[in-house]
Amino acid sequence: MRIVPFTMRLLDCHVHIVGTGAGGTGCWLKHGGWRWPVEVLMFRHIDVPHAALKGDFDRIYVERLLELVRGSSLDGAVILAMDHVYDEQGKRMEGVGSFYVPNDYVLGLARRHPEFLPAVSIHPARADALDELEKCLEGGAAVLKILPNCHNIDCNDRRYAPFWERMAAARLPLLAHTGGEHTVPVVNSKFQDPRVLSLPLECGVNVIAAHSATKSGLFDPDYLETLADMMTRHPNLYADNSAFNIPIRSRAYRRCLEAPLVDRMLHGSDFPVLVYPHWAWMRGLISAETRRRLQNEPNILERDYQLKRAIGFPEEVFTRAATLVRRTESAA
Ligand SMILES: [Zn+2]
Repeated sequence: MRIVPFTMRLLDCHVHIVGTGAGGTGCWLKHGGWRWPVEVLMFRHIDVPHAALKGDFDRIYVERLLELVRGSSLDGAVILAMDHVYDEQGKRMEGVGSFYVPNDYVLGLARRHPEFLPAVSIHPARADALDELEKCLEGGAAVLKILPNCHNIDCNDRRYAPFWERMAAARLPLLAHTGGEHTVPVVNSKFQDPRVLSLPLECGVNVIAAHSATKSGLFDPDYLETLADMMTRHPNLYADNSAFNIPIRSRAYRRCLEAPLVDRMLHGSDFPVLVYPHWAWMRGLISAETRRRLQNEPNILERDYQLKRAIGFPEEVFTRAATLVRRTESAA
């Protein structure tokens, strides 16, 4: 294990790792078919050739990501593992998810590259959930990431209390997807409501509601005010502003600059999700000149960072994640 360098201040708390399994990484990714146009656009956006999917994709993706983090103002990025989908009995639901990223892979990447902080992913219904959690804590986990609606996790199920209590004791924060989702298949839309996070909050876990529970599709409910209300009751509830540069989510920017949301907000990109400054400009949040300058910024992690600065998020939004991630005590 290693100590998170104290020099780390500016973090992107929401960066996806994806892989095809090339090079024995253990990842898988459903691609092609109806996903093809989105993939092509995303890969072009991050400057990874689409043809790489047939070759050494996993290595190319990580190298590109490292290059972007190093070339940005950020000190580091929280990289996310992605568990399989399980039912309430802890049985794996085959053929449901759209991608998988093993914990060992992100833990290994973070050991090799000090710019990366590993977020592991564990479905708490798994028979080995607590053992896997211990293993990941031992391996240097900095965050735990789940998508309750896509992973099919009712976080309020009392059976999971020991899992949340162990996380709280280890000071491992929970980054949980909230609000609708349109990239990863949804298994149970009930679990998109941030109130699904009540039990982990009561168990003392620092919880970060990814996307601030905003709607991603036109017909999704928006839980931003529910989240703001929960923040007044739970001092350990935070949120991130990841994937806000898409047409519908950009609507939430203005409200997220106000209390109580702004005082609990964390900077996150949702890399490799697209970052276009046009939506913030159309909503009157940045000038035309700033839009042009940001559009010409080729590094999308830097573009997202600069854009959120220009919109008016205070310094603390960019440094808050560094105060929340778990810092390991020994190096190995
Ligand atoms: Zn995400």
